[in-house]
Parts: sequence; C-alpha cells; structure tokens
Amino acid sequence: VIMMGQAEHSVITTCAYCGVGCSFKAEMKGNEVVRMVPHKDGHANHGHSCVKGRFAWGYATHQDRITKPMIRSRITDPWREVSWDEALAYAAGEFRRIQAKHGKDAIGGITSSRCTNEETYLVQKLVRAAFGNNNVDTCARVCHSPTGYGLKQTLGESAGTQSFDSVMQADVVMVIGANPAAAHPVFASQMKRRLRQGAKLIVIDPRTTEMVKSPHVEAAYHLKLRPGTNVAVVTALAHVIMSEGLHDADYIAQRCETQSFEDWKNFVLRPENSPEATEAVTGVPAAEIRGAARLYAAAGNGAIYYGLGVTEHAQGSTAVMGIANLAMATGNVGREGVGVNPLRGQNNVQGSCDMGSFPHELPGYRHISDTTVRSQFEAEWNVELSPHPGLRLPNMFDAALDGSFMGLYCEGEDIVQSDPNTQHVTAALSAMECIVVQDIFLNETAKYAHVFLPGSSFLEKDGTFTNAERRISRVRKVMPPLSGKSDWEVTVALAEALGYPMDYRHPSEIMDEIARLTPTFHGVSYEKLDRLGSLQWPCNEDAPHGTPTMHIDRFVRGQGRFIITQFFASPEKVTRRYPLLLTTGRILSQYNVGAQTRRTHNNRWHAEDRLEIHPQDAEERGIAQDDWVGIESRAGQTVLRATITERVQPGVVYTTFHFPESGANVITTDSSDWATNCPEYKVTAVQVMPVAQP
Ligand code: SF4
Repeated sequence: VIMMGQAEHSVITTCAYCGVGCSFKAEMKGNEVVRMVPHKDGHANHGHSCVKGRFAWGYATHQDRITKPMIRSRITDPWREVSWDEALAYAAGEFRRIQAKHGKDAIGGITSSRCTNEETYLVQKLVRAAFGNNNVDTCARVCHSPTGYGLKQTLGESAGTQSFDSVMQADVVMVIGANPAAAHPVFASQMKRRLRQGAKLIVIDPRTTEMVKSPHVEAAYHLKLRPGTNVAVVTALAHVIMSEGLHDADYIAQRCETQSFEDWKNFVLRPENSPEATEAVTGVPAAEIRGAARLYAAAGNGAIYYGLGVTEHAQGSTAVMGIANLAMATGNVGREGVGVNPLRGQNNVQGSCDMGSFPHELPGYRHISDTTVRSQFEAEWNVELSPHPGLRLPNMFDAALDGSFMGLYCEGEDIVQSDPNTQHVTAALSAMECIVVQDIFLNETAKYAHVFLPGSSFLEKDGTFTNAERRISRVRKVMPPLSGKSDWEVTVALAEALGYPMDYRHPSEIMDEIARLTPTFHGVSYEKLDRLGSLQWPCNEDAPHGTPTMHIDRFVRGQGRFIITQFFASPEKVTRRYPLLLTTGRILSQYNVGAQTRRTHNNRWHAEDRLEIHPQDAEERGIAQDDWVGIESRAGQTVLRATITERVQPGVVYTTFHFPESGANVITTDSSDWATNCPEYKVTAVQVMPVAQP
C-alpha cells in the first residue's frame, strides 16, 4: 500500500484503466496524490476497486514522463527539445506539405480510448475539419468494432443494453470469450455475488479461466471450444432453442421482424447446425451444448456478457449478431437482469466510439454520408465536410506502403505494440513522412515519430469517460499538466497551427457542443453530471436522467432483426508446420500494453508474459516448467517462458500481451473480421519449441 502522508483535500474522479469506470476519491496533499480511495457513492463500483485503480496510479509522475515537445527530421536523428510553438508549427507545416505533395487524403489521425470524450471528439473534429478528410480511427478498431457493427444491425444501437447492477436480477449468466475476473474485476465481484445467491453460470471459453471455478462459484457448463468456433457454438445453441421450442414466441411476434425471424429459424434448424453435427468442429460435446441452451432458455432472466474472445475473430461481427439473436429469441432484451452486454476493455473505448472516431461515422453513430446530419456539423464547425468514409487503421498502413498515406497524428495509442503483425505496422510507419505522437511516454510507436507532443494523464485534465454500461462520469483535474497543456489543449493548438482555430475555454464547452450535435447526448452537461454523479446515455428530452436499460418497449431500430450466422472456419489453420492455436488474454495486475502498470508496483505480481501450454503438448516437445520456448507463426517469431498447465486444452496455447519485449503481436497475423477489420488476435496457428535462454 502506498502511503505518502496525510491528505489535505480530495477530488472525485474516474479510474483510467478499464471499462468498469470506478469512481475514486483522489486524496491530495497540495498537488500530490496521497492515495486513491474507491468512492462509496460511485455508481459503477459502489465503493469497490481493484489492484489497478487503487494502487497503480504512480505512473502519472513516473520519471519516464516526457514533458517537453520534441522534433527530429529523420527517425534516426536524436530528439531535439523545442517550444510548444515550434513543435506545433513543425507538425502543421509537415502535414500541409504532405497534403500539397500527395493530396488532401494523405494524412489522418488516431483517437485514444485512454483520453476523455472531449479530447476524442476534438481529434475527430481536427481530422474532419482541419485535415479535410475522414481518415480517423480508434483502437476500438482492434477490439470492439464488431460490437458496434453487430449490435447496430440487430438491435439498432452500438452499445450494451444494461447497467452493471442489472446482473443482480439475472437467473442465468452466460459469459462468452471474456475473463472479467482479470479484465473487469469489480464487475466480476458483483457477478460472483449474484452467483453465490444462486444464479447459474455458463462459460464459453477455450481456456479454464478464473470464472469457470473460483471459491464458492462454479460454472454449471463450461463449453471449452476450439479457438475460432464461437459462431458454430452460438448457432448450435440457437438450434437447440428452436428445435426444442424453447424460444419466446410472443416476444418475437411483438418485438421482432417476422421475416428475419423465419429466415433465421429455418437456417438454425438445418441439420448441419445441430450440436451433434458441430461437435467435431467446436470440440464441445453435444450434450453440453444442449444442456447450456436449455439452461439459458429456461431462465426467467438470462443475461449474456461477452468480451474480446468474441470480437477479435475473422467472424467477430457474426458472433456478436449470433449472441443478439439468442437474446431476442428467448425474450432476453429490454428489462433488468437480461441483455447483451459487451465488456468494454479500456476506460473510454465506449466513449471514443460514441464520439465519432470511426471513418464512416460522426458522433452518435450517424453515417458521414447522411446529408442532414453532416450539414448540422458543417454549420457548427463552419466547414464543408467530405461525405466519403475515410481509411480504417489497417487501410492506412496499406496506403502508407502504397505511397498514398504519408502523415499520421496518433494520440495516446501505441499502435506498434498493440496492433497485429508488428512487422507490417512498422514497415508502414517507416514509409510515412511525418508521424506525430502525443503520449505521456516515449512508447514503441514514438520510435517511428518525427514530432513528440507530451500528453497528460487522467490526473491532469478535466473531462468525461464513458464506461461499458454507457455511463458518463466526470474526470477531474487534480494537478496541473506536467507539460503545461492537457491533451485537449494540445489538439486545439495543433488545429490553430493548421489554420483552423477552435475556441474553447474549458472541456465543459466541448461537452456542450457534443450535446448540441448528438441526439443521445442532448441532455448531458457538466452541471448535471456534477449534480447527479453520472449519466447513462441516451440522455435527452425523452430521458433527462439517462437510460440504465435500453430497448424496453421497442428496439432502437424499431423491430429486432435476426441475422443469419453462417459459420466458416478461420483462415488461420493448423498445419504440420504450425500445429497449435495461440489465443491471448489479460492478467489482473497488468493492463494492455503495460505502459502504465509496468511503471508501478504492480510489476511485483506479474513481471513477464508467459506461454501457457498443456502438459501433453509440452511433453511431446520436451518442454519443462519455466523453460524458454520459441513461438513461430506465419507472421513472425518470439520467445517466452513456458507455464505448463491444464488451464489450456491440448492443441491450444495462450499468452498475455503486456510486455513489449514478449512481442505477442510479432506473431499475430493480418487475418481480420470480415465486416470491421478487427484483427483476429484470438486465433494464430503456431509451432512451439524449446530454445536456449535469450
Ligand atoms: Fe479501475 Fe477497472 Fe479496477 Fe475499477 S475494475 S479500479 S475501473 S481497473
């Protein structure tokens, strides 16, 4: 426990780690944080916290923080510290030079799910209004973009349906491709409380996670599927529900499109979608699929929670739609205790999507080609906007290698470490003429940058984050920004250097603009957030205090739409050369690429990534516990130490991805979701062999 002295005052703010969005009191002595205390009135956490939010905030003042702007003309040159004015003028000059030489569409920007809603909104505004194109994307591309697509297609809104508290009304909880015990610990504790009260648990996961069996909690069914077969399992569950008449016919008749239901029913009832027919593909015994389907369908309230184990696949969007199909077919959407709930990873990944970070959508998930919507933004921003969707992140990399995309503004995201197929990413970045990185540390991406603009941590800014339950909470500045500017002020200054002045005195004015332009945010203001503590969008004239549960009387899209979910095998196939399937996940004490947690005492608990391998696969290869092993895929190779465990099934290996030296993404491939390009991080065919200590 970090105890630095007696606090003089406290400030209520929001954790900057995961999508639970816990509320904390930052206890302060002058400008120094003494301790972070979970806020008992926090709407998402009710006074609870985890080891990250409570203890891992020291990175904010770590000695590695870069607090001065820096430039260099070539990435082989040393960095040169310069004034803010010189750095911003250099970045703006390079961006305009590139556009003059290669065209208006030759530059773009990446927003950050670590930053606030207001900062994210400003980056997409900068790209659309000052760059003059729609080349803006976000790290949600590589995590929950299939959620945005799949839930919009089926239910009509790109967000989860429930509050976290809703789980306390659930009778059956189905957790698919998620390990909330490690990734969303405070919500996992709440879920376990409900399970201890008697709710039943179904886990669908290739690995035996802490959710499957923990003190006082044991899953009724663990469908231990082969990686890459979610769609086959979900469709087989639907087959059982429909063939045994376990669906909610009245709900479907009242709430859903008749024709789409009939088409879907005929599809799922095909013999090839039965549990028996799919057992060989999924590896899940048919009897277990039948049992799980019956348990979920018979529940008074059945709630589904899912994570990146669903979305980060070649069929990520299909699996999301399959999950929504299951919930609609059983009448499990539109009240407390049920629903379809994506467990969002980063603190503000829901918010970065809401704020228009995708190249085809303006804030509030409105398509850029919608003339009426676009004209509202044009009037407010005083510019003419391009009606054409811009480049997605992977398309930016491809265009860089073609020579048509040469400049990138990257705020608060380490794309070199976090995106798949590192060699492809670094080749693309090396081909660009100007990369501007805005971050709190010199991350892996900064090695390819020409301009470094020092960013600010969550303690140095005002703003809002939106968590996985659509809850907007205030982030409050507790100390001045170490660099002199909060991130939103840097983006404003860059816009001005580009000749597009933005006039804001405080982030509350940015939120006022968001509220004016975004129907689901019409009722949001800092005054209301301060008064009520938090608000769940939609918050507008119809719901002035926000919306804890969505789709109550009707779906946002009107009638719920069933979508056919035809399974196809992952392009990542095992072969004699690559006979194992690698899948990835997180651990409790570290966070994502580890930029923050690795610079805290949390390293004591987990200081390296490990490769989990089944005893049978280890024995075949002569691998002993803690041995160093080489892992090779079609994309590349890396070295880790082995943990031999039955948590993974034979034929499957697993690693976390928190340490750059482990290079997990050196081996992940370019395979991606058909609808959104979300990378297939969860399935990589590999070979594993013992190697000498590197
Ligand atoms: Fe922070 Fe998430 Fe932990 Fe809450 S559960 S303290 S939001 S990391």
